[in-house]
Amino acid sequence: MRLIFLGPPGAGKGTQAAILAGFLEVPHLSTGDILRQNVKQKTSLGVKAKSYMDKGELVPDSLVLEMVEEKLAEKEAKEGWILDGFPRNLYQAGALDGLLLGMKQPEYDLVISLDQVPEAVLVDRLANRAREQGRSDDTPEVLRNRLRVYHAETEPLIQFYTNCLRLTPVNAFQPLEAVTENLKKLIHELK
Ligand code: AMP
Repeated sequence: MRLIFLGPPGAGKGTQAAILAGFLEVPHLSTGDILRQNVKQKTSLGVKAKSYMDKGELVPDSLVLEMVEEKLAEKEAKEGWILDGFPRNLYQAGALDGLLLGMKQPEYDLVISLDQVPEAVLVDRLANRAREQGRSDDTPEVLRNRLRVYHAETEPLIQFYTNCLRLTPVNAFQPLEAVTENLKKLIHELK
């Protein structure tokens, strides 16, 4: 099973992607998590990515694409994956199709868009996470920028995947367990 998760920061993408990855026994590829790990370990990728992440801007496509290609080529990703936080703009979406073709991997089964969470709730959730996790990109100013970048660069993907009939919206403005149940139902219908 190959799934792409779309949605604004704070919609619960990471949480739901992790639960489903466990359920489906496929790797959960969160570009944000992988980037944060690189920053922590001060790898050359991490050093290059940090200034963008600290401002809430997107890390340059070339860096992210190289990183994703490496992850998709790993043995664990042969039978499926869940992409969380990638693609993040139209260029990355096109590049992903090219990558999969080049690697002779089948296309994704579904693009799930976690939607309907009001902007004020997103802001609240992100602020709470900032307090809990101490992330350097969760200050109020950076947080607003991340939402702005989402609307400007990532939201157009909803139309893009709707046009190619791959998009399935899921209402994320419900308790966590209800969202998970809806997602499992969707996947069950696919199998
Ligand atoms: P996330 O945890 O998905 O919200 O990502 C945290 C930060 O990592 C983002 O604000 C970006 O700076 C960077 N990032 C994550 N995924 C991508 C991506 N696909 N393309 C560019 N930057 C990314």
